[in-house]
Amino acid sequence: MSSILRALSCADDYDPESLTVTRAGELILSLVEPVAGSERAFIRRGLNRILAEDVIAPVDVPAHDNSAMDGYALRHADLRAQGETRLRLAGVAYAGRAYAGAVAPGEAVRIMTGAVVPTGLDTVVIQETVTIEGDSIVVPAGQRRGQHFRYAGEDLRAGQAALVAGTLLRPAEIGLLASLGVVEVKLRRCVRIAVFSTGDELCSLGHELGEGQVYDSNRYTLATMLERLGCEVLDMGVVRDQPEALEAALLEAAASCDAIVTSGGVSVGDADFVRVLMAKLGEVAFWKIAMKPGRPMAFGKIGGTWLFGLPGNPVAVMVSFYQFVRPALLALMGRLPAPLPQFRVPCAVPLKKAAGRSEFLRGLLFQEDGEWRVRTTGAQGSGILRSMAEANCFIVLEHERGNVAAGEMVSVQPMEGLV
Ligand code: AMP
Ligand code: MG
Repeated sequence: MSSILRALSCADDYDPESLTVTRAGELILSLVEPVAGSERAFIRRGLNRILAEDVIAPVDVPAHDNSAMDGYALRHADLRAQGETRLRLAGVAYAGRAYAGAVAPGEAVRIMTGAVVPTGLDTVVIQETVTIEGDSIVVPAGQRRGQHFRYAGEDLRAGQAALVAGTLLRPAEIGLLASLGVVEVKLRRCVRIAVFSTGDELCSLGHELGEGQVYDSNRYTLATMLERLGCEVLDMGVVRDQPEALEAALLEAAASCDAIVTSGGVSVGDADFVRVLMAKLGEVAFWKIAMKPGRPMAFGKIGGTWLFGLPGNPVAVMVSFYQFVRPALLALMGRLPAPLPQFRVPCAVPLKKAAGRSEFLRGLLFQEDGEWRVRTTGAQGSGILRSMAEANCFIVLEHERGNVAAGEMVSVQPMEGLV
């Protein structure tokens, strides 16, 4: 028995004929480890990439005590406990141009947002509350010591980990790195993923549809989902339902890629050779997952290359990709686990649901009378991509759940954020 199948069959609730979505996801994640290999890159090249090491803040952020508002910096001790206080203006502090002089007791400094607060001053009073009288200001009572002050190092202290290994770099992280003056970071290497579609009925774009043919859409959804995830994609086109062609494609992909994602040919039809060949060439588990859509799926390895044999139906491809392939590839890319937000909203329509499997419906979150609700997007057949295109979330009906009455709460997973 192969090492993967052995590892899987040790799990006490392992039933390849009926695996829950949760269990299948856990089994995959228990096996996939981050790729070795990293490279240094300019932070601007880091979007959607994963940090390979902690980034330690080389400086305090902010580097100096500075003002959070336009106003006047002063010593709180100079303010009278009751009533107004008159203070003489000693000078002006601009962002990037500090006030160089000393500030004597009883004096204040006009200060702009971001300007360094002169030594000895501890409070900023916003300009709207102050009255100017000649070269003095009159400050009303009720000022709090330390107000409108940004302290050096309050964001981050020099020597602290600003970002940890395994962090996905998004614009906020890239900005944070820039705020530290970091130019280059160590990134996990890009993962390279091979994609091909299988099926004798598939017609490639640019050709006229023949009798009984369908355009190959899966390769386009798969390649672009992979690209949004930050993977390098090897697009191997359409492979016919012929064992020799499929074997050659699998071997070629395994030789140069970290993972292979295919669509079609994993059920039990007479032309479903993918599952058989994957098993011949590598170690593979064929799973019937208790879910709709996306029941059959092959998962395994050829040599060091992970294999995901997804079903052929276009919606099933996307659902199984988001539920299983995406988290697995993020783990392969070295990202720390980051569960997607899932929350509950009232369902505006009744839903039919059989208990004993998870269902992923295409949903539209919409606002009505100030409250967010969800409804389904038209026909939900697993071949109907339009229901995906019109959706902005998945409605997740859990394994044990039965029919849903209108108004009942259901779980949703927003589609934005699936990258
Ligand atoms: P299969 O799993 O190979 O039996 O395919 C199931 C259904 O999905 C069939 O109706 C196929 O025509 C359709 N299908 C398979 N591959 C693709 C593809 N790449 N693009 C669009 N539809 C496909
Ligand atoms: Mg097929």
